[in-house]
Amino acid sequence: MTIEPMEAMNTVYDVVIIGAGPGGATAALYTARAGLSTLMIHRGPGTGSGALADRIANYPGVLGEISGQELTERMVAQATSFGARLVQDVVGMVDLHKTPKSVSGNQGYYQGRAIIIATGAMGRGTPLPGEEALVGRGVSYCATCDGAFFRDQPVAVAGNNHEAVEEALFLTRFASQVHLLSQTASLNVPTALADEVLRHEKIAYHGGARVLAVLGEDAVTGLRIREGGAESELAVQGAFIYLQGRQPITGFLQGELERCEGGCLQVDTMMQTSVPGVFAVGDVLCNHLKQVVVAAADGAIAASGVERYLSGRDTIRPDWH
Ligand SMILES: Cc1cc2nc3c(=O)[nH]c(=O)nc-3n(C[C@H](O)[C@H](O)[C@H](O)COP(=O)(O)OP(=O)(O)OC[C@H]3O[C@@H](n4cnc5c(N)ncnc54)[C@H](O)[C@@H]3O)c2cc1C
Repeated sequence: MTIEPMEAMNTVYDVVIIGAGPGGATAALYTARAGLSTLMIHRGPGTGSGALADRIANYPGVLGEISGQELTERMVAQATSFGARLVQDVVGMVDLHKTPKSVSGNQGYYQGRAIIIATGAMGRGTPLPGEEALVGRGVSYCATCDGAFFRDQPVAVAGNNHEAVEEALFLTRFASQVHLLSQTASLNVPTALADEVLRHEKIAYHGGARVLAVLGEDAVTGLRIREGGAESELAVQGAFIYLQGRQPITGFLQGELERCEGGCLQVDTMMQTSVPGVFAVGDVLCNHLKQVVVAAADGAIAASGVERYLSGRDTIRPDWH
């Protein structure tokens, strides 16, 4: 069941899972079915590489092709059918050493006795020039949180994925104009959604446009972009950035866990990280085959590790049911 952030904040969960892709959703299915109170946090529908995979034909037991989004949604629905809760928020910080452990998002903070990190590997490497200095002063990663600050002002959204397009549509409620800057010629979303955004009178679509820098001293005044081979400046007061890369998404951990070169997380055989009670699964791990079936298997193992951690058991018992 999807719940509001305010509702989720009132509970200390047995386990908080950051990410609701195949890894996080499978972990939630197992922990919820084992009777542990379980909260999954995700950035929103259509986020994560699971949701981006157009066609998946190699997930065991699913004959033919299924979109990654549908497969992931089925996993999430199965987890919530056993009592897991789902909340939409963007995690930016964690405190993993206190009891209970806490996870801070844009909308507030959530508490868990154990944590599973399942944020995948679609993170960006180096930020854009000017981006970091202007976070909170025009640069944002969450239109739902910050959109209302840009009433009657022009804004830009950078990205070509589901999240970017949904956020651009949301921003039309407030902004005078929304420039949607897609690094590819066409948007990476279903046709109906692309049509809706392209037809919207407040949205100016820039296909094949790259953002080169965020401009401004104390606040965002514009973006430098390259479009059709030429560089230009686009005057905007808000820059909502949803660009993706291929880096493990671990920045929000702020060095609390041991990582390898490249930022991926190291775990033991029960998927536990360097901090007891904190587990990690799926694409965010090192030297790993990046596939749905692997992320799902990691999730099942981590759930078993969480149970063991919460019950204080330090031996592994075979678990057949
Ligand atoms: C184009 C493409 C095609 C693919 N094709 C196949 C295929 O055919 N077969 C196959 O097996 N695999 C395929 N894969 C790989 C597969 O999608 C991944 O291995 C799998 O989805 C990894 O699952 P995950 O749960 O680790 O991460 P993801 O699926 O990436 O999920 C990450 C989750 O973390 C959440 N998240 C991230 N950051 C935050 C944050 N700060 N706060 C809150 N939530 C956050 C996201 O919202 C999302 O819910 C493909 C991948 C891509 C990109």
